[in-house]
Amino acid sequence: MTAPYQTIVQDLRQAFPQPVSDRVHDAYFVFSFLRALDQVDALKSVTPLLGRPETLDYDAARECRVQKGTLPLETVTAELVDHLSGMFIFGHPRAQINVVPAPTIASIIGGLLPSIYNPNLVSEESSRKVGVAEVEVIAMTSALLGYDPQQSGGVFTFGGTGTSLYGVKLGLEKACPDSFRKGLREPAYILCSERAHYAALSVASWLGLGTDQVVQIPTTADNEMRSCLLESQARQILKDGGKIAAIIATMGTTDAFGLDDLSAIRDVRDRLVDEFHLDYIPHIHADAVIGWAWGVFNDYDFHLNPLGFRHRTVRALAGTKRHIQHLGMADSIGIDFHKTGFTPYVSSLLLVKNVHDLRLISRGQDTTPYLFQSGTYHPGKYTLETTRSGCGPMAALANLRLFGKDGLRSLLGHLVSMAEVLREQLEGHAATTVLNGGNFGPVTLFRVYPDGVDTFTVPKREREDASFREQLRANNDYNRQIFDLIQADALQGKGVVISMTDCYRESDYGEPIVALKSYILSPFSEERYVSAVLDSIWQARARIAASKNPA
Ligand SMILES: *Cc1c(COP(=O)(O)O)cnc(C)c1O
Repeated sequence: MTAPYQTIVQDLRQAFPQPVSDRVHDAYFVFSFLRALDQVDALKSVTPLLGRPETLDYDAARECRVQKGTLPLETVTAELVDHLSGMFIFGHPRAQINVVPAPTIASIIGGLLPSIYNPNLVSEESSRKVGVAEVEVIAMTSALLGYDPQQSGGVFTFGGTGTSLYGVKLGLEKACPDSFRKGLREPAYILCSERAHYAALSVASWLGLGTDQVVQIPTTADNEMRSCLLESQARQILKDGGKIAAIIATMGTTDAFGLDDLSAIRDVRDRLVDEFHLDYIPHIHADAVIGWAWGVFNDYDFHLNPLGFRHRTVRALAGTKRHIQHLGMADSIGIDFHKTGFTPYVSSLLLVKNVHDLRLISRGQDTTPYLFQSGTYHPGKYTLETTRSGCGPMAALANLRLFGKDGLRSLLGHLVSMAEVLREQLEGHAATTVLNGGNFGPVTLFRVYPDGVDTFTVPKREREDASFREQLRANNDYNRQIFDLIQADALQGKGVVISMTDCYRESDYGEPIVALKSYILSPFSEERYVSAVLDSIWQARARIAASKNPA
């Protein structure tokens, strides 16, 4: 007699991919996935949204419990698909929301295969050639960004924040040796720009440095760290006997695509090492999770311009390359393939210039001179994580192979030229102002003004003149209103979804400046969708004006 549980196990076996080749069951597996994709497809329309805008019911969600019996796969997938309803389609040309890419098919498959076979990057035994894929990607990106792949190393980790965590941890071990064992016993500081990602604060708190020890250096109007102020702040810390755990250079700020000057930062660092006879070299970590991809232009011939970019695009790409070409000067680099590399989440890589740095964070390092010397690959000895998924490296490898340099150059060139078209149009109108004109990425920050505002002088006064505080606030509100109207339209399939940032930077007198934000990252973007942004702006302006002066 079969016990009830045996029947259940027998049924559930159908819910797993078969361990031994079974073509009929393979068809069931693939078809189940296909059915799910079909159901997702039914959610598509002209709007950049799957399904409809959904009201999210967390109260109902909290009522959810595990049911007693099993459910058919079909029922489960239908329920999963339903959870995508209301999602933005980030790859839609009418979506210019944030630095969220559309993943390529190659990278989706790269993420899917490890999902089926569960390689674990903790060690060689459990990851086999998927672990080799990690090493391949580390070598490829090292060479791309100016590291010597024979000297460099790296590790895939849990997001851009994770890359900064590793970078600062390495620096902390250099500044305060053996913190790994003994813990932190003296104040150690992180220096970064005021436009750096808040990941720097998370890292400071999680590493036990404390967020008070994050020193934010003011930036230029181009959102670039003022290296002279970095120098004076760092000198003060050293004079007071503090340690510098790390200097974080932001290579592509989140809102504005500002780029720090790594070569100036390195000069500052080297000068201070001499001046104070430091017995450690303060670690420079480049947070290049956004900007890294522009490394493909390091050896592009802008003069011959073989890919045929238009002049304005060439200027923008070359302007970015000016800073990105110095990435090799950093001691470690954070890279998000899931931002400007078009992979699914999560695919983040920390690169270190000198692989031996990883010894600083290795468990049992003094007893095991293991690193690459036994000829085996055991990242688990120095990773914070134990289990690490193979999805990140496989997805990254997929895209690096799919694109090559020319593919990534062309995609980025296209996105930047679309952003340049938007800027040209925004600059051509009296009522709109581009705020990050000196940052040459796919993101444009801009402000819209009502009739009668002199946009030749107002943006500057908003930034610099404290007596303009009230106007700045009023104009902030005006931009929020414009945003709400554009957003409402976009959700109806009219116009384009953009986003808004509550503080793209503070004014010189400490007031947040609101900006509208267009992040063009869809490979399907085209000029007509850029023009649609402008159309939406004019309509929103007209509606606000009409509500103020009802006829
Ligand atoms: C997005 C971002 C991060 C955080 O990366 P995640 O992958 O989201 O964890 C860090 N720094 C910068 C500059 C970013 O834009």
